[in-house]
Amino acid sequence: MQCKIDSYDFKGKKAIVRVDFNVPLNENFEITDDTRIRAAMPTLKKVLAEGGSLIIMSHLGRPKKVEAKFSLKHILPRVSELLGVEVQFADDCQKAQAQAAALKPGEALLLENLRFYAEEEGKPRGLAEDATDEEKKAAKAVVKESQKGFVKTLADYADCYINDAFGTAHRAHGSAAVIAKCCPDDRMFGYRMEGEIKAIDNVLKNAQHPFTAIIGGSKVSSKLAVLESMLERVDNLIIGGGMGYTFIKAQGGKIGNSLHEDELMPNALEILAKAKEKGVNIYISTQTLIADAFSADANTKVVSSDQIPEGWEGVDAGPESLKTWKDVILGSKTVLWNGPVGVFEIPQFAKGTLEIAQDLADATAKGAYTLVGGGDSVAAVTQMGFAKKVSYVSTGGGAMLEALEGKELPGIAAVKE
Ligand code: AMP
Repeated sequence: MQCKIDSYDFKGKKAIVRVDFNVPLNENFEITDDTRIRAAMPTLKKVLAEGGSLIIMSHLGRPKKVEAKFSLKHILPRVSELLGVEVQFADDCQKAQAQAAALKPGEALLLENLRFYAEEEGKPRGLAEDATDEEKKAAKAVVKESQKGFVKTLADYADCYINDAFGTAHRAHGSAAVIAKCCPDDRMFGYRMEGEIKAIDNVLKNAQHPFTAIIGGSKVSSKLAVLESMLERVDNLIIGGGMGYTFIKAQGGKIGNSLHEDELMPNALEILAKAKEKGVNIYISTQTLIADAFSADANTKVVSSDQIPEGWEGVDAGPESLKTWKDVILGSKTVLWNGPVGVFEIPQFAKGTLEIAQDLADATAKGAYTLVGGGDSVAAVTQMGFAKKVSYVSTGGGAMLEALEGKELPGIAAVKE
C-alpha cells in the first residue's frame, strides 16, 4: 500500500530507506561533495524524530564485485555527523538480519554497497566475452530469479519501505524498484523523491502557459527524445548550446568548426517542421560568440549564427539572441531549463548561461514556476549561486531526462502500483 511520509506513524517501526549516497570521493576516500547525503537528511531525520529506526541502503560507484574502494564505510562518519546519531554499519547488505532486528527507536544502520551483489542491478556478471545470446539470456534469467530473494532479504529487515533515491528512479534495480513489489506492507516516497515528482508534474501535467523549454547542451542525439516530448507540451522552445549548430547547418547556415552532428540534420529539420505544424515557436540563436580555439585565451568575436567562418567555432549565445530569449522567458508562466547554452566551464564563454540563470531567477520572482532539470544546467545554476532563486533544481540527471522524455520511471511506478 502506498503511504505518505508526512502522515505515516513511524513510532516503533523500522524503515528501510533507499537513498542515493553515490557521492564523489578523492584518492584518500574523502567526500568531495556531500550534496546527495544532505539531500536525504529530511527523510532520514523525520523517521528518527518520530520514534522509528532506520536501515539505510545505497550504491556507491559501479563495482562489479566486492571492492574496498567502493565501500560505503568511507562515508559512514559523514552520515553520522549529518544525521546526529552514531550510525551502525553492516558489512554485508544481505547478512544484516541480527543488526536490523536489534535496532531501537532512534537508531540507524547503514548497509554495505548494494552493488556488491549482481542482483541489485539484475545483470549477470563474469560472462565469457564470447558468450552466445542463449547463454546471456540464461544467465540473466538466473540473476533475475535470485534478485527476488535478494530484495526479500532487504524488505524483511523492516516494517516499511521508503524510496528517496531519485537518481536511480529510471533504473529497474532491486532496491529502487523491484523491492516495492515484495513489500507487502507500507511503501512511500521520501521528501526528495516527492519534491522531484511534484516538479515533474508541474511541467508535464500541470504546466501554466505560456510554457517555455530551454534545451541546451552539446549534442542533439542525447536530447532528441526530450525535444520531441517538449514539442507536445510547450509554447516556446529555445534550442541553445552546441546542439543549435546542427539546426543551423541543416537550414543551410555556415557554422565553421562548430560542434554539430551531420547525421542528425534530418531529425533537426523534422523537429522544425513539427513545431510549425503544432504552432510551437522555436528560438535558435541568431547571433553567436565565436572563438578561434576551444580555450580561455582564444580570440573571440560576435557574428551572425549562420555566418561562422572556417577556423572559428560557436562557444556561446550572442547578445541579440540572449535579449530575444530573455523576453520569451520573462513572458512565461512555466520555464524548464535543461543544458547550458554555451561552454560555461570556461568563464569567457559562460555569459549566456549566466544570463539564462538570471532570466529564470527574474521569471521566478515574477511568479513563474521554473525548473532546472538535469545535466550541466544544474551544475551551472549551483555554481553561479542561483539555486535558491529558481523554483526547483533537480538532483537526478539521467532520471530527470527520462522523465522529461515522457517515460514512466520504474522507481516511481513501483511505489505507486
Ligand atoms: P549536456 O551534457 O548535453 O547538457 O552538455 C553539456 C555540455 O555542453 C557542457 O560541457 C558544455 O560545455 C557543452 N556545450 C555547450 N555549448 C557548447 C558549444 N557551443 N560548443 C561545444 N560545447 C558546448
